[in-house]
Amino acid sequence: MQKIVDFIKQTFNTQEFIPLHEPRFIGNEKQYLNDCIDSNFVSSVGKYVDSFEKEFASKVGSKYAIATVNGTAALHIALILAGVKKDDEVITQPLTFIATCNAISYIDAKPIFVDVNLDTMGMSPSSLLSFLEANCEIKDKKCINKTTGKNIKACVPMHTFGHSCRIDKIKEICDTWCIALVEDAAESLGSYYKNKHTGTFGKVGAFSFNGNKIITSGGGGVIVTDDEDLAKRAKHLTTTAKIPHQFEYVHDEIGYNYRLPNLNAALLVAQLEQLDTFLVSKRTLASIYKEFFSHEEINFVTEPKESKSNYWLQAIILSDVKQRNEFLEFTNKNGVMTRPIWKLMNELEMFKECQSTTLENAKYLEERVVNIPSSVIL
Ligand SMILES: *Cc1c(COP(=O)(O)O)cnc(C)c1O
Repeated sequence: MQKIVDFIKQTFNTQEFIPLHEPRFIGNEKQYLNDCIDSNFVSSVGKYVDSFEKEFASKVGSKYAIATVNGTAALHIALILAGVKKDDEVITQPLTFIATCNAISYIDAKPIFVDVNLDTMGMSPSSLLSFLEANCEIKDKKCINKTTGKNIKACVPMHTFGHSCRIDKIKEICDTWCIALVEDAAESLGSYYKNKHTGTFGKVGAFSFNGNKIITSGGGGVIVTDDEDLAKRAKHLTTTAKIPHQFEYVHDEIGYNYRLPNLNAALLVAQLEQLDTFLVSKRTLASIYKEFFSHEEINFVTEPKESKSNYWLQAIILSDVKQRNEFLEFTNKNGVMTRPIWKLMNELEMFKECQSTTLENAKYLEERVVNIPSSVIL
């Protein structure tokens, strides 16, 4: 294991502590921030919010993008746009960051967990389909869960660590079963499946710009959609549902203060300009790791077939829990930050009672996957 620690230190060219993922502000960040401060438009209106939304939409090939204060807020609104209401059910994967399930819970809807594929670490289309076939029926163009009598409104697959799941198959199944597809693309900016950007397959997609993501504004998020009405509604809901007026405050429903401040948008415009450079660096790091770990007989996670990954967080799969724990202890003790993949959502107190399929693959990965330092190398 010392050999691995040495190799990572050599790769990052330092003997100091190596974080899992640190941001890089090496473009126009300071210039745009200064400009923003000089203009006095630091808050919820300003030219950087508008230009970020425009540039982001064009980058991912979506018609509309609506900036939000963080990725969880983006997901929350995305689910509302998909029609999810109190007591509805939403299918997702157990192997994800808590934000996915939190957003579902904010609406008082319930998650249902289906298994993941081993190669993508994202939702398995066959697990999704067999769950639907065994438990659901379509009535009046609604997907009804026969066990609970509830309406399954949406399905939220997630592109784990920037590796695309089999999103075209998942979309096909969702269409057949009258379920809205909402993509949690928080980790996959710069990742493509069959040459189409992740987050743009479903009705709505959500991205995050938290401090550890591939580009960051400290905190931030964005909703993408091709539907003009949904885009308008997303803007309305995220901006307190205020009806535009020269001076009056009239709000026509309960809205949210989910606006991204112009200051953060200024940072994001600068970060987005560097995305392509960051992607090259991350893919290079992946090939360096792949080569190294192939000699160590450790399984390094590479992009699934027919996709192009952003390699946001680099990952290895160890042979069992024991080896994983030893690896985590040794590396973290020796100045190399590593982290296990998330504890499965269905194992958390809040989601223990939720319906699920057998989750063999998710469990297998939970016990073995570890993220290793992944920052952009300058
Ligand atoms: C980062 C992340 C989010 C959103 O997180 P925020 O911190 O609210 O921006 C959502 N889902 C997944 C899978 C994530 O990794």
